[in-house]
Amino acid sequence: MGPLIYLDNNATTPVVPEVLGAMEPWLRGGFGNPSSGYRLGRAAAAAIDTARSQVAALAGCQSEELVFTSCGTESITTAIQSAVASQKRHIVTSAVEHSATLRLCEDLGAMGFEITRLPVDASGHLDLDELNAAIRPETALVSLLWANNETGVLWPLEKIADIVQKTKAILHIDAVQAFGKIPLRLEGLGVHFMSFSGHKLHAPKGVGALYINRRVPFTPFLRGTQENGRRGGTQNVASIVAFGKAAEIAAAHPLEPTLRDRLETSLLASIPGCSVNGDRANRLPNTINLSFEGVESEAALILLDERGVCCSAGSSCATGSGKPSHVLKAMGLTDARAKSSLRLSLSRLTTPEEITRTAEILPAVIEKLRAVSLADSPVAFS
Ligand SMILES: *Cc1c(COP(=O)(O)O)cnc(C)c1O
Repeated sequence: MGPLIYLDNNATTPVVPEVLGAMEPWLRGGFGNPSSGYRLGRAAAAAIDTARSQVAALAGCQSEELVFTSCGTESITTAIQSAVASQKRHIVTSAVEHSATLRLCEDLGAMGFEITRLPVDASGHLDLDELNAAIRPETALVSLLWANNETGVLWPLEKIADIVQKTKAILHIDAVQAFGKIPLRLEGLGVHFMSFSGHKLHAPKGVGALYINRRVPFTPFLRGTQENGRRGGTQNVASIVAFGKAAEIAAAHPLEPTLRDRLETSLLASIPGCSVNGDRANRLPNTINLSFEGVESEAALILLDERGVCCSAGSSCATGSGKPSHVLKAMGLTDARAKSSLRLSLSRLTTPEEITRTAEILPAVIEKLRAVSLADSPVAFS
């Protein structure tokens, strides 16, 4: 087996050496508490300030509008909980959100909130007229993805913001998957909250950020004095520094779709009964979601793993559950087609050689699985 080919960057990304180098001093001599007034503490506070402006530069917002959190899920939870702290009891979200949003909205529904889950069409898009019609005077919150983590489909952020801005609802966008892959300018956009996570852009797991528009009312989720009273808990200085560095690198290295397109074109040409899930035009530049007729994706993952290729079936959170992806189901795919899907997600570290190798390995794996299932089937011999 050759070296590992990592094509699961929508699940998490490797920490790049520059990022590791930037964070390391803060785990060694620079261990001070950023709230302490002596030099050791002030140095840590200054490092957080630098990271905050690096992330703000990538998000196109002011540093003061960013709060560091422990992960994307905490950012999402904080935004949603803050937005529903009003008297209003209606939430608009979609059927294809990340589990962080889905599960929290289920809980809020059980607590008496009315939840509208907007459907998507076969290409993974919302009907914006339907979004507009769903918002009512008692709507506290609209919470939607920017890019879908399973298909990469990108929703029209500006149009969504324009629609919600005409109402009194608060708009939260889960931008965890798109951040660093697609240019963003929050200033003037009309979004109230936006969630980010470091480990999707080459920082370590366990650090996130939440954009809080300076004009939106905000109730903290974790109480305390840190982060200007907006998020209690001593900051994870090293990981925050890493997130800042990763944001700076992402800003300087826009992600190109070239290798993704090369791989997708090659797979579509060499594998019969293979089709793309989701709108190919409005999509993250790194993501491919394909269905392979007659193939169980869980079986494909095992053979790919044996051959050194890491990718995923649907969402990584759904792996092992045996359930078809809720995203693909919402797009109207049959259970069989949803369960035959693979997601391949690249990063700026992916090499042309890895793409060439994958374009050889994957068709062979699919062919092998189809041969096995034909041999298993009595119909094949009749
Ligand atoms: C990964 C991901 C999250 C969760 O982020 P964590 O930092 O792992 O909690 C939320 N939303 C989307 C779209 C994601 O891809």
